[in-house]
Amino acid sequence: MVAGRKVGVLALQGGVARHVQALADLGAEPVPVRTPEDLALVDALVVPGGESTTITKLLNSSGLAEPLAERLADGLGTFGTCAGMIVLADGVLDGRSDQSSLAAVDIDVRRNAFGRQRDSFEADLDVAGLDGGPFPGVFIRAPVVERAGAGVEVLARVEGRPVLVREGAVLVSAFHPELTSDRRLHRLFLEEVA
Ligand code: GLN
Repeated sequence: MVAGRKVGVLALQGGVARHVQALADLGAEPVPVRTPEDLALVDALVVPGGESTTITKLLNSSGLAEPLAERLADGLGTFGTCAGMIVLADGVLDGRSDQSSLAAVDIDVRRNAFGRQRDSFEADLDVAGLDGGPFPGVFIRAPVVERAGAGVEVLARVEGRPVLVREGAVLVSAFHPELTSDRRLHRLFLEEVA
């Protein structure tokens, strides 16, 4: 059931509003999450794009890092996009030397992996199991998955490299599904992952 479900959007930094809109379009009740009290109210969470170093720093200073790690360990349904993918990954390559991540999904990601010439681009993605044709992938200084553990399902690739993966209740994309009007991935998240 999607209708009326309280779905958090981590709102410390980055692209919050378009995720809120996407979730509302699907009939969920989006809740901006800035404090541990906000987090306690939600039964699924989106971690948006932005700057992963900043988001991680604010997770620590807001007191959210610890309760979020606990909820993730309990199987909180979570959708991380772009910087959100980095924040949720096990390992971060080309991160800041002090950059930590939540290790909620067994992948190593490389930041800004597509290089300067291709800072941002769009690609039609064939997503495993998604009906209705290719998904429009909007990539902005996007990371890529360099290593995926045995329990990780790769749902889409660009140039052979994974850009959409799922492990259990955690779905992460290197691109920004919220920046299109295509709601299929948010729906997949709410109906099948979370
Ligand atoms: N390059 C950013 C980072 O490393 C991610 C960019 C994005 O979220 N669009 O955090």
